[in-house]
Amino acid sequence: MQKIKSVQTEENFPESVECPLCGAGAQLVEKHCPGFIEPDTFSIYHCSACDTQFSMPRIGNNKIYEYMYGRAYSHYCRYPKEIKKAKDPLQYLADAEPAYWAANRIIQEMGANRKDLRILEIGSGLGYFTYALNQAGYHATGIDISESGVAQARQTFGDYYLCADVTKWADKHKEEYDVALCIETIEHVDEALPFLQSIAACCKSQKAPGGGGKIIVTTPNKSMYPSEAVWCNSLPPFHMWWLSETSMRYMAEQAGASVGFFDWSEYHRQNRFTVRMNPEKTMRWSEMPFLDENGYAIHPKSALYKYFATIPWAKRIGKKVMRIPEYRIQGSRGIILCAVFERQ
Ligand SMILES: [Zn+2]
Repeated sequence: MQKIKSVQTEENFPESVECPLCGAGAQLVEKHCPGFIEPDTFSIYHCSACDTQFSMPRIGNNKIYEYMYGRAYSHYCRYPKEIKKAKDPLQYLADAEPAYWAANRIIQEMGANRKDLRILEIGSGLGYFTYALNQAGYHATGIDISESGVAQARQTFGDYYLCADVTKWADKHKEEYDVALCIETIEHVDEALPFLQSIAACCKSQKAPGGGGKIIVTTPNKSMYPSEAVWCNSLPPFHMWWLSETSMRYMAEQAGASVGFFDWSEYHRQNRFTVRMNPEKTMRWSEMPFLDENGYAIHPKSALYKYFATIPWAKRIGKKVMRIPEYRIQGSRGIILCAVFERQ
């Protein structure tokens, strides 16, 4: 089996590097943040010009997806099966993940009867969201750079998917879509700004006859945490960015778009959304390495644990026994940042 290339730890870390998002000087905040794959470590930099945290070195991470999809480690891997059984797949996903709840709400607000909306999902992964949108009557297409992800999506759900890079896609599909969706994907991409600019190019501008489109981008929300936090996010290089509202404003300006942020107040009222730590307290990073150097999950959960985790009362007792503190999130800001761009 081919090993994931380990990142060699350097002893000399520059105190300042150029921010890969805005080009300003970014400062070293952490030399040895654990990596997604053991025993790699990454350094973390903060750019105060665009309030963005990023990991160094910027290495490719496609192998991780092949492991995650191929061995079904990700919790997303259980959705394809369950969604095919669901009566209303879109509602099922909206109930399961806040990012889908927000995206569904934004699309609905564009017009309840607008089933003619053309939707492009960038980073469609195993395909369930694009499938759910089609089942709800929209015309949705999913693109992804993972060949195995697209192959599995096509096999499970049909011909809604293509293996494609959004930059090349944008050349052929300029201003074609009413909605461009990028759910929990931008933090995985090395060059976030050109990526967002390509996504924006696929979407109708506000000048388009019949009205403009919306570009919906979700990512872990740095703006929820105090400035001392280093990386409350999946570890690098799986995630390479920790983006804030200011990062999104910078990208909007560069893409010739306006940006607004989804208001989570109603979601928080309805869902009693909790996290396992207090975002107001300082913390360094929130996760542990996930894969060993051969790409196997480090702490695979037992079948029994997985079974009990699906039963609400067992989950509640388990959390009490393990004494995991939980904090209820309220108000308009969520732990997911959902930015809505409109091209001018
Ligand atoms: Zn910057």
